[in-house]
Amino acid sequence: MCGIFGVYGAPNAAAMVHLGLYSLQHRGQESAGIVAVDETGIAKARRSMGLVSDGFEEEILAELPGSIALGHTRYSTAGSSTIENAQPVLARFRDGHIALAHNGNIINASELRRELENNGSIFSSTMDSEVLVHRIARSSSIAPEDRLADALDGVEGAYCLLVAVGNSLMAARDPRGWRPLVLGATDSGYVVASETCALDIVGAKYVREVEPGEIVVIERDGVRSVKVLPQKEARRCVFEYVYFSRPDSRIFGGSVDRARRELGRRLARDCPAPNADLVFSVPDSANAAALGYADESGLPLELALIRNHYVGRTFIQPSQAGRDAKVKVKYNAVHEVLDGKSVVMVDDSIVRGTTTRGLVAMVRAAGAREVHMRVSSAPITGPCYYGIDTPSREDLIAANLSVDEIAKHIGVDSLGYLSIDGMLESVPGGPKGFCHACFSGDYPTPPPTDPNKLRFGCGC
Ligand code: AMP
Repeated sequence: MCGIFGVYGAPNAAAMVHLGLYSLQHRGQESAGIVAVDETGIAKARRSMGLVSDGFEEEILAELPGSIALGHTRYSTAGSSTIENAQPVLARFRDGHIALAHNGNIINASELRRELENNGSIFSSTMDSEVLVHRIARSSSIAPEDRLADALDGVEGAYCLLVAVGNSLMAARDPRGWRPLVLGATDSGYVVASETCALDIVGAKYVREVEPGEIVVIERDGVRSVKVLPQKEARRCVFEYVYFSRPDSRIFGGSVDRARRELGRRLARDCPAPNADLVFSVPDSANAAALGYADESGLPLELALIRNHYVGRTFIQPSQAGRDAKVKVKYNAVHEVLDGKSVVMVDDSIVRGTTTRGLVAMVRAAGAREVHMRVSSAPITGPCYYGIDTPSREDLIAANLSVDEIAKHIGVDSLGYLSIDGMLESVPGGPKGFCHACFSGDYPTPPPTDPNKLRFGCGC
């Protein structure tokens, strides 16, 4: 997954993008990048591995002058985590520069790339996003939006894009609208961001969502919108509400915080734990759902797990012993809260089950008498091909075990998930118009021909 942020018409656009990327750090921690375009049309890029806070000292930002800039935070599978795959992509072609930042996954990228390679194109990364840059450069259209529309013709899958060509900044969202993208206004121009929390940090005012299938063009004389992409049924990613986006954001026109509380309330109604003493969350992503569960059930909400905020997702230990250590490095249980209690542990999802199993053991070791696990989404039974980094089916616990078997495996006294309907009915704008493929197997597109290659070549 990734975060994208663009600025048009700010005296020091790169510095503003830098701030915006801080608010999109949760969408990707492997690399970060900024491209700025100055008044003479010269574009410069800076990309670095790791966090936004690591790679952009003041001197570096000073080398990125201009009033147009775009940035990216990247999260992909470990194999493709290299500087060549850091974004934004910056390329030069006959008419100047093309800078591009992408959030999503293009599922026919392998075919499109092969077609380009057969015609002599060479690539410097394994990213699906680079395919788009080639296609923009090859378009014979004049207007920037026509170039982008040509490039996107026949592209299948999930994309939110920021593209700078000449003195234009464009934002585009795929026709199904899988990933969120919002337009904001500043005193002197516009910003575009994956989530509204990134508008807040730069003091921009929310204007509206970039609509599915829309290309927004920002130029000196303002904003224009074209809807040239083919219309398709909306398929917003429900997992953005469940887990991925920040709770202080509004995405898809709704509040993430309100969505998660409602998921928690519905979970309390559908999967009660009447004899429990207290509720706690697996911090931080399940905090709002646990609040909802506590509110609806009347059980007190406690802080039973403490998360170490200095441990990033890059802390990877391949062995099982290492995985257990990983849980302990990231979380610890509060004995005084748990000792002798029957507890409800709320998490937003179970993926492999490894963290969950370690947490349950930790909660029991801290004295919990009974552990009732409640999950504010449905069982994840399939991989995501549209931008969320889920493992393949063999590693997804719910694809291989029944709910009772999972309960046994993770060591809880009871386990309750939301149903798919319960989940879709709880989110703003639901139940229709969402992608729930990883829960239901109802994939809106044919699966990619080469899913493994896609995972390594993913643009986000
Ligand atoms: P596991 O023990 O592997 O089932 O991990 C469960 C935890 O992973 C939950 O606390 C989720 O909030 C979190 N999670 C869910 N989806 C993802 C993802 N795509 N990347 C990283 N963590 C995730």
